[in-house]
Amino acid sequence: MNMIEPAQSYLFESLVLPLLHATGFMTWADSAYDATGVFLIGLLQIAILYILIRPWESLRPAERWQSRTGVRVDILYTLLSRTGILALIIFFLLDPIATPFESFLHIHGMVPENLEDVFPTLQTRPLLAFMTYVIIIDFFEYWYHRMQHRFDWWWGLHSIHHSQRHMSLWTDDRNHLLDILLHSVWLASIANLIGIPGAQFLFVVILIKGVESLSHANIRMDFGRWGDRILVSPRYHRVHHGMDVGHSGSSRGSNFAVLLPIWDLLFGTARRMDEIPQTGILDQLQGAEYGENFISQQVAGFSRMIRAFTQR
Ligand SMILES: [Zn+2]
Ligand SMILES: [Zn+2]
Repeated sequence: MNMIEPAQSYLFESLVLPLLHATGFMTWADSAYDATGVFLIGLLQIAILYILIRPWESLRPAERWQSRTGVRVDILYTLLSRTGILALIIFFLLDPIATPFESFLHIHGMVPENLEDVFPTLQTRPLLAFMTYVIIIDFFEYWYHRMQHRFDWWWGLHSIHHSQRHMSLWTDDRNHLLDILLHSVWLASIANLIGIPGAQFLFVVILIKGVESLSHANIRMDFGRWGDRILVSPRYHRVHHGMDVGHSGSSRGSNFAVLLPIWDLLFGTARRMDEIPQTGILDQLQGAEYGENFISQQVAGFSRMIRAFTQR
């Protein structure tokens, strides 16, 4: 957080604070200062990923498209999501049940039992401690993703993510608001459970988001036969988005892993394909609609969820 502190203070004092003052929300000043930090870290993250990944998409695309129009809505999702704006919208929409968001932002200081207290050896090995946190969180991420596919109502929400037929580095954040809320509660609960320090948690999230941007990118690339068993590659995750492949079979999909394919290997959901599949959901070929823009996608996801509940 220190690196961005000067920019954070400047933006906060010149824009956010006067705005809070004018609207009578001065009691929110502390949270707003944190939110300003989240916003700047998000912008920085997007800029770095864009510089690193975008040229690569042009040089070695997995798919060549006639037009990039379909990508635009995903850029909006990424901007809103990574800068914390979506978190704020959800917070105000669902104020009474959004308290977990508070703990998500204010995880510092309210850590119950630290993993490093339970395993003292981790105290002297910060890198080992960080890796342990990454592995534990990634394990829970895998199971969250399994549930998104397992339950019909949840798939109703998650199908919005899969409905992108022009998958790119921006697609990772294309999710339903309700799903984003559930995911934040899930992540915050796990972070509290294992007592990960706030700064480390932030780095784990940034690492996961970075790998996710890369794994969604429209790049013809994998990490080789063995590398693809160590870290999720663009090719590996493209199979997960493959039409039919990514949402059918006994596990209702394959290659669920977010960071480490080991979970797919352990739980029998890993799949390797020689050809690069086209992405999307099978019934889109029969004309099923999942929405073209942000609002229509949110509405479609919500009504698919309701339909899953009422059609039992
Ligand atoms: Zn999925
Ligand atoms: Zn995905």
